[in-house]
Amino acid sequence: MDTCGFRSSCVFYNDLKEKRPVTLGYIKEEYCDSNYSLCARFMVYTARGPCTVSKYLFPEDIHEACKILDELN
Ligand code: SF4
Repeated sequence: MDTCGFRSSCVFYNDLKEKRPVTLGYIKEEYCDSNYSLCARFMVYTARGPCTVSKYLFPEDIHEACKILDELN
């Protein structure tokens, strides 16, 4: 299975791993271990690099990711 290559540097992922493992299970199933290219964080990481993404950007928040990416253009 293909997994997201940003897992070790993703603050959101690592925060959930430590504090909310049940929620992480859902996120992994929906994004990290499957459809990671649809994750808002992945989209911004790919364009700007892992250190530039707020830990408060949720994987579902495509609208916010688009706003961030638009600001780059
Ligand atoms: S939350 Fe998104 S960027 Fe972070 S590890 Fe999962 S798929 Fe990758």
